[in-house]
Amino acid sequence: MRFFEGYRCGNCERDIPGNSIAGECPSCHGPLLGRYDLPLIASSITRDEFYACGQGIWRFRPLLPPFTRELSLGEGNTPLLRAERLEKETGIERLFIKDESANPTGSFKARGMAAAVTRVLDLGAKAAFVPSAGNAGLALAAYGASAGLETKIYIPSVTPDGVAEECRAYGAKVVVVEGILPDAAKKMGEDLKGSDGIVLSTFREPCRVEGKKTIAFELEAQLGYKSPDWIIFPTGGGTGIVAIWKAYRELEQLGWLDGKRPAMAVVQSSGCAPVVKAFENGEETMKVWDFPETSAAGIRVPGSRADRQILEALRDTGGVAVAVDDQEIMMAAGEMTSLTGVFPSPEGAATLAGLRALIQKGTIDRSERVVLVNTAGWSRYRFMLDPFRE
Ligand SMILES: [Zn+2]
Repeated sequence: MRFFEGYRCGNCERDIPGNSIAGECPSCHGPLLGRYDLPLIASSITRDEFYACGQGIWRFRPLLPPFTRELSLGEGNTPLLRAERLEKETGIERLFIKDESANPTGSFKARGMAAAVTRVLDLGAKAAFVPSAGNAGLALAAYGASAGLETKIYIPSVTPDGVAEECRAYGAKVVVVEGILPDAAKKMGEDLKGSDGIVLSTFREPCRVEGKKTIAFELEAQLGYKSPDWIIFPTGGGTGIVAIWKAYRELEQLGWLDGKRPAMAVVQSSGCAPVVKAFENGEETMKVWDFPETSAAGIRVPGSRADRQILEALRDTGGVAVAVDDQEIMMAAGEMTSLTGVFPSPEGAATLAGLRALIQKGTIDRSERVVLVNTAGWSRYRFMLDPFRE
């Protein structure tokens, strides 16, 4: 059954065929979003059938593009943990952690890269490139190793120690670029001229979003179709937040939600908070943050190609954007680790710091069901151990 209808630009709504090599809108460079014949899906399978079959991200194939293979390193199926001791500490009555550190290469990026690399293989390309602050590059390197795909990772010089070495261990070529993520992206753009490799940058490739939608599908299954009131997500480039928002919109249009869609809460560092600033000013687009500074490398991202969609996701769901500082992130990391057994990345810890701030502002009520998404584990951030040295 063909459910997939191709891609549509999120900005100008231009339609792009599903087998196109285009990774962004040829007219306006906007982000491409997968489209599905939702009425046909709803009349062909039941909600229980959608959730019943298989393991990992590919079990949700009616709402993924139809590839000729399903590349996998065992991504998805991550635990949803009830954080009972943290409930007592915060006063939130039902608090959960979706622990994405259980994915291959230790982060949520595995979901998107499994789908994106599968698309690359279907397009017949021999090489793929990405600029990365760490996790996306690691995921691409690992899936490239699995598929025999040549990969080239452009990492900024501020990337945590060990990322370059680990990417090389998977067989990737690594280019270290002085500066921050946009500097790495610029260098990649210069190198790419004349190459036939495919770019898998954030929102220059449509299937990273499609793969990441599976976080939302798993949440629904794990919560017995009782959607959370809030999903708190650390946000850099924004594929995660846009993917979860898109997934819930699809589920709603399929008639597969029992209640209302969750509100999305974006957490950024106060040293790099372009979404928060634009949201608070009521703007529809984001201005690039001039001097991004935070030890949370995964959210040290000064802008996004999907700024309109990120801001729309917040307003459409009654969500919010909140900034926390690095000290609050480190305190939250210690609290989450000692009270839940989940040792988060700084980005994951930021979700707990954000929850604290939103409780204090009165935005989140103690009776609401809250999910914190820990996007990755701590292990590539050795400084997370500093407070515990004796
Ligand atoms: Zn467009």
